[in-house]
This record gives sequence, C-alpha cells and structure tokens, in this order.
Amino acid sequence: MGSLSSPRDLTKPFNPLDPTELAVESSLVTDFIAEYYRTVEQRPVQPHVTPGFLTSQLPSAAPFASESVESILQDVYDKILPGLVQWQSPNFHAYYPATCSNAGLLGEMLCSGLNVVGFTWSASPAAAELEQVVVDWMGKMMGLPQGLLFSGGGGGVLQGSTCEAVVCTLAAARDRALERVGDDMFNKLVVYCSDQTHFTLKKGSKLVGIRPANVKAIKTTKNNEYGLCPTDLRDLVASDVKAGFIPIYLCGTIGTTAFGAVDPIRELGKVAREFNMWFHVDAAYAGSAFICPEFRHYMDGVELADSFSTNPHKWLLSNMDCCVLWLKFPKRVIKSLAAGGNFLEGGSETMVDYKDWQIALSRRFRAIKLWMVIKRYGYKNLISHIRSDVSMAKRFEELLLSDRRFEVVFPRKFSLVCFKLDVMKNVPEVVDEDDGELSHDSKLTRELMASVNVTGKAFLTGVRLGRIFFIRCAIGSTLTEDRHIQDLWKLIQEKAHKICIMI
Ligand SMILES: *Cc1c(COP(=O)(O)O)cnc(C)c1O
Repeated sequence: MGSLSSPRDLTKPFNPLDPTELAVESSLVTDFIAEYYRTVEQRPVQPHVTPGFLTSQLPSAAPFASESVESILQDVYDKILPGLVQWQSPNFHAYYPATCSNAGLLGEMLCSGLNVVGFTWSASPAAAELEQVVVDWMGKMMGLPQGLLFSGGGGGVLQGSTCEAVVCTLAAARDRALERVGDDMFNKLVVYCSDQTHFTLKKGSKLVGIRPANVKAIKTTKNNEYGLCPTDLRDLVASDVKAGFIPIYLCGTIGTTAFGAVDPIRELGKVAREFNMWFHVDAAYAGSAFICPEFRHYMDGVELADSFSTNPHKWLLSNMDCCVLWLKFPKRVIKSLAAGGNFLEGGSETMVDYKDWQIALSRRFRAIKLWMVIKRYGYKNLISHIRSDVSMAKRFEELLLSDRRFEVVFPRKFSLVCFKLDVMKNVPEVVDEDDGELSHDSKLTRELMASVNVTGKAFLTGVRLGRIFFIRCAIGSTLTEDRHIQDLWKLIQEKAHKICIMI
C-alpha cells in the first residue's frame, strides 16, 4: 500500500515499543487530531445515529492479524467520528465544556509515554513531588487559603473526578464521626447539601455507606438565587441533632451544574463549624475562574472549608481527566484511606504516598499534564482564556436581554447563561413548585431547544425545575469564538421566530 506504517512484518520480532516506529505512528495520530480540530466545526455537534449503529459495523471478534495505523485511523474517521458528540466543537454548549489544549494533549502524551505508577513517593519520587508542587501552584494562582496548601500545612492531590474527591472526603468525615460516637451510630450519620448539589454527593454517600434517607438536600428557591440558605440549613441540622442524628458533612457548591449558582460559603462554613461537620466546597466548573481575582468574592469564607475541589479538565484546558482536591488536614483522609502491606510502607512527612489520598492504589502521572499546561501558557494566558469565555457569555446574555421574547432566568455569574422563552407576558409562572405541568413558555422553550439541536449546528442542554424548563448555554469550548456565538444567536432567533408565529 506504500503506507507509512505497514501491517506488522511477521518475520521481525514483535516490538510494540519500537522508538522509530513510534515517531512515525504518533505523527500520523497528531496529524489526524489536528485535522479533526480544523474541521470539527463542520460536523453536526450531536450525531444522527440509532442504537446499534456501530456494533453492526464492527466485526464481533478481535482481528488475528495486525493492521496498519492508517487503516485503523480510517475506521476512526469513517465509523467512530460520526457517532460521537463533538465535545470539542466550537458549537458545543451543552453540560459544561471539557476544554482541551495542545499543552493538555502534550501533557497527556508525557503522562502516558512515561507511564509511571507513583502510588508511593519511592515508586516515583519526582511524580510525587511534582504533584505537590503543581497543586500548590494551582492553589496560589486561585488565591486559595494557605491552610489548604502544602506550604501552609494542608495539601492537594490530583484525582480523576470530583466524585472520587467527594468519596475520599466523605470517608474521612464518616470515620472521624464514628471515632467520636461509636460504630453503633452508623445509621445516624447525616450528610447535608442543597437540591442543586451535583448528584456525585448522593452517589459518594452511598459508596461510603450513608443511608440514602440521611443525605438531606435542602430546597433552594429563586429568592436565594438557588443558593443553599444557611438559616434553613441550621434549622434542619439543629432539629436532626435533637432527634438523635449526627451531622457529619456539608457540601457547598460554587457554580452549580444547573444554574452556575453560588452557595454562601462563609455562612455555610459557620454552620458546619457549629455542628462539627466536615465542610467540602465543590467548585468543579467555576473553580478555574478564581485564577482571576475579580471572581474570588464568590468564595468568600473558603478558609472555613476542610476541603475544596475543582476540575481543571472542565475549564482550564487540561484534557480529561484532572480534578484537584485540596485538604486542610490531609491526615484525616490518610487515616481513612491508608491500607496496604509492608512493601508499601515507609512514608514520612516530606515523602507523600499519594495512594493514601485517593481511592485506588495505582495512579496516573497527571501532575505532568497540569504542570505542562501551566508552564506552557503561563498564568497570564490562562487568565485571558477565562476572561474571554466570560465576556463571550456576557455578550450572549446581552443579546438575550435585548430581545423581548427571551428571559434570562438566572443572573449569569461565570460563563453559563440560562434562559427561556417569555412570550406569554401576562401569565404568571409558578417557579418553585414541584408538581404540575410545565408552563406554556417552558414547553415552547423545550421545543426551541430541540429545534436548535436537531440542526446539528449547536448543542444545548436544558433543565427542568418545578414547572419551568430553561436552556443552559455553557460557553467556553476551547475553539469557540465570537462568530460562533453570533451564529448561535441567529439560529436561536430564527427558530424562536418560527415557534412564536405558530402560537
Ligand atoms: C461537573 C460537576 C461535577 C462532577 O464532576 P466529576 O468530575 O464528573 O465527578 C460535580 N460538581 C459540579 C458542580 C460539577 O459541575
């Protein structure tokens, strides 16, 4: 075929780590990815496929003979790409973005290429120390309190997801409480959050054995801008304590998934202190914004937190996966999670054994990726990246506000814009009520979203809350530019026009 990478010549010994071949084959893949980024904008953001579309195209058994990289990439191009949601499309505005970057990809290549397994300091000293350095860098860039950094007696760890971070902190909170009250009280342990807290908290609570009924989600309302109300929390905790329950953990969120809402961290922290609860702050998406000082007021009171987590893989160009968890008292987590035979022992104050800071024993060298991203772009460019996304979101919000048919349902704080149609001007809407049919405007909004998504020119997701349905537009895919937002707005207006004519 005259190809650069031929099917394996079986007369040669099998060498899957041939450096010469690597240089050739990896450039085929990087060229493929570069071309993908160049053209991803032309692909429908959501695929038009039906279940089984891929399984029916692929052989049901593994190939016996080797294939060339080109032919495998051809399969990726022909069969796999058309069945993906194009998360890196500049027209992807669903969920929260999973931003990636050249540096993030290069970092992943180093992580994967070096392939060290740094469960203890001795298993890869530089991996452990680079991680300590880079989580402190990150914490300082974000203006986090000293107490969460290694340099201030705390410390951070890189994990795969917020869910894992939550599980580790819940386990520590559980064990700390049980030590105090005794194992017999297990069924009395209670975890608190709001109805806007990410479901990872419920999942994590289940995993550490908390009874589902003891995970208490406090209802938020429009009046509190969908933040967790400290007074409601205090009343509930106090009455639970009276009834013999043991509060162990409170999760506050900065940048909730549905709205990008912010819980009042300082006030929540005070309640957590009063009742001796572990206070975790989940800033999975919005945390990255704190590298810009103008957003830091949203985390006022964060020094009261026992732990804080954010996902640089969401907004800080650090390709999946990368979650930073900072702990004020790492020893509490270590005490819950440390396990292992003698061959793994030998840690000390300066030698961090990260196996005791996470769920699994083995771990990836994520630090080299985050380090690469920060070094390659510098604090300066990372700040402009965040600011540029926020200003695009601001312009999109202004466009919505300039059109009477639309309503911005929640004041934008970061780069998420929540909106719906508001054409039935005189019909009051019941917002904070759980049951009943969707309001008429909400039904139209859902229709609007579907008609935008079906074009493949944009992908938006929506949220149902009580009787309203709104559209979330999360701005900030790495490739998104102003022109994409202008096109999106035109598309939305055009579809809204059709829907409004029909009523
Ligand atoms: C995305 C998100 C999560 C989930 O993060 P994972 O890393 O996927 O577990 C949790 N909390 C908030 C606020 C989020 O936005």
